[in-house]
Amino acid sequence: MGQKKKKIIKTIKVDVDKCNGCRACEVACSAFHAAPKYSSNNPARSRIRVIREPLKDIYVPVYAGEYAKSECMGRDKYTIDGKEYEECAFCRASCSSRDIFKEPDSGLPLKCDMCESDPPLSEPLCVQWCLTDALTYEEREEEVEDEVSEEELKTGLESMVNKYGLDKIVETVARMSMSKKV
Ligand code: SF4
Ligand code: SF4
Repeated sequence: MGQKKKKIIKTIKVDVDKCNGCRACEVACSAFHAAPKYSSNNPARSRIRVIREPLKDIYVPVYAGEYAKSECMGRDKYTIDGKEYEECAFCRASCSSRDIFKEPDSGLPLKCDMCESDPPLSEPLCVQWCLTDALTYEEREEEVEDEVSEEELKTGLESMVNKYGLDKIVETVARMSMSKKV
């Protein structure tokens, strides 16, 4: 079994009821990621977007998540307080079906990086600029398996092959995989 190591899990909690749609988070994020840093701000470059539905009286901050190579085969529809929201409204993915979470000039996908920087920020910038506390930041420590790198695995296998011979190793792995299937 691999060794355990500590991992910091970063979470931004979103309290939709406290969001007033001011968009300070979008401005702060785009300024932080401008090159050079803070040289401009353009919410279209932000990794958080506030889905605004003033007539339905709702503002939902949504963070940019993973890039999706293709559109979903199925879509989600949300009904909140009896009001229906369009498909894809709260999705975090950057995908080909809409313009959100794409760098406006290049079209490259955007993803929230929790404001990783050196020196690190005390809290992500969008959280710092959210004056209503709709966004709050939490860190917790978890123990996870220490993953073995491909190089370490290769070195270990090579030394076993040298010691026992390739046939013996293949035979043992085959026996182990058979016993796991039973
Ligand atoms: S955590 Fe940082 S990168 Fe992510 S949306 Fe907030 S400001 Fe942008
Ligand atoms: S800064 Fe806070 S209140 Fe303003 S839009 Fe963003 S999440 Fe909502």
